Amino acid sequence: MKAMNYRGPYRVRIAEKPLPEIQHPQDIILQVTRACICGSDLHLYRGKVPDTRVGTTFGHEFIGVVREIGTQVQNLKIGDKVLVPFNISCGKFTFCLQGLYAYCQESNAMSATVGGVFGYSHLAGGFDGGQAEYVRVPYGDVGPVLIPEGMSDEDALLLTDVVPTGYSAAEMGGIKKGDTVVVFGAGPIGIMAARCAWLFGAARVGVATFKWRQI
Ligand SMILES: [Zn+2]
Repeated sequence: MKAMNYRGPYRVRIAEKPLPEIQHPQDIILQVTRACICGSDLHLYRGKVPDTRVGTTFGHEFIGVVREIGTQVQNLKIGDKVLVPFNISCGKFTFCLQGLYAYCQESNAMSATVGGVFGYSHLAGGFDGGQAEYVRVPYGDVGPVLIPEGMSDEDALLLTDVVPTGYSAAEMGGIKKGDTVVVFGAGPIGIMAARCAWLFGAARVGVATFKWRQI
């Protein structure tokens, strides 16, 4: 299959890679139909994320069609169209049970800092991402969500990171009806945070842009 391939800082290519295979009974294999390049992929691209290894495939925002399922997967069937959140979570143990899916220790047992993330370095578990024709998705019954009939691919794709990340920021801000809110940073996440601030009842929302100095 064709897949994005990291060759070192500032060097990415499209390369042929072996098709991903079921490695665990809870895995699914997804044929990717849409994938994004996230702003945070730029950190990887610039070589700023520790243990980003040559040969890995980025991509933590993707949707697709289920093509293979592991024997323990119960909620999905071949042909289902799903969106996949960027965190890889077991859904069963300490952090997941508290809703802290990003800290899942089962999906990234070697790290004390972060759970598994698709296409986001070996620090985040070394999972290949979705900027490829196919991707292996662990814990098929936990992360993937069926895309409802009538929802566009583009809208579904926004639910893999950009909207929920902006939503979480607005939620953590404790916004109350009638509040005035300022969001610093007018990237996709900032814009979604602003929209979600309205959702929480903010009366006025300002978005401040600034130029980030690249080190
Ligand atoms: Zn992202």
